[in-house]
Amino acid sequence: MTASSSTNTIAEHVAAITAQLPASVRLIGVSKKQPASAIRTAYQAHLRDFGESMVQEAIAKQEELTDLEDITWHLIGHLQSNKARKAVEHFDWIHSIDSLKIATRVNRLAGEVGRSPICCLQVKIVPDSAKFGFSMDQLWSALPQLNQLQHLKIVGLMTIPPLESSMAEVENIFQQAKTLAAQINERGFDQLHLSELSMGMSSDYSVAITAGSTMIRLGTTLFGDRPA
Ligand SMILES: *Cc1c(COP(=O)(O)O)cnc(C)c1O
Repeated sequence: MTASSSTNTIAEHVAAITAQLPASVRLIGVSKKQPASAIRTAYQAHLRDFGESMVQEAIAKQEELTDLEDITWHLIGHLQSNKARKAVEHFDWIHSIDSLKIATRVNRLAGEVGRSPICCLQVKIVPDSAKFGFSMDQLWSALPQLNQLQHLKIVGLMTIPPLESSMAEVENIFQQAKTLAAQINERGFDQLHLSELSMGMSSDYSVAITAGSTMIRLGTTLFGDRPA
């Protein structure tokens, strides 16, 4: 594929997806493993939200894109403790707050750095040993402490169904995530108002939108296959 045809393709995909999204759903272009030039192309097609899985990889691309000042950067991958400070410095959103330990650390660093990352709590609606995330039980027991983390803006839940799930199971998982957010909101924690649901990837975003997603994270649908 030539550079110009891949450029056109990314722009076309961004336009096509954007046109079909309800106004309530934010499109995040997952640019992990893609070059900064792909982000620039999607930006020119009016995309402003980009998701990356690895902190260092994202920083390298951000350094190539400093002229694109109004990008919102989303961290969507598991955050290691030793990357937490850089994550706070370089991302607006962290979708992958997957333990009380990392939440507490990010909160402390956010206070030191003087930023307030917008966060989602990553939850596993069904057990999944291949993924990070709070189990439902872990999440319920962590909520009182999460509610005390004053430098985090905790605004929603993020979930990824297990790889082997059927579409019916995926739909059920997304619906349960929405119900869980509503149940947490009903408890009335003063710092926890969960209005965002970060759910839906290339294979399941339609189902996610039907179930109430407010943020879909699309990689291959926008950018094509990731380089190995
Ligand atoms: C890679 C990734 C995506 C995008 O996956 P696609 O299938 O390429 O759309 C979304 N969310 C997370 C957390 C990811 O790691």
